[in-house]
Amino acid sequence: MVKVKKCSFCGYDIPIGKGHMFIKKDGTILNFCTPKCRKAMLVAKKNPRKTRWTVYYGKQ
Ligand SMILES: [Zn+2]
Repeated sequence: MVKVKKCSFCGYDIPIGKGHMFIKKDGTILNFCTPKCRKAMLVAKKNPRKTRWTVYYGKQ
């Protein structure tokens, strides 16, 4: 069984074999669907709830 992963930033499903995995120094595993999401979270440090193109936008 292959589990579908969700993007750690935008919350959308990542197709099997796609996406980028990032492991933080503290061991937290982050999955990103696109480099756009990786940059938004790690470089720009955006809040997914304040970013329009995520599923978390507007949610508490
Ligand atoms: Zn994403």
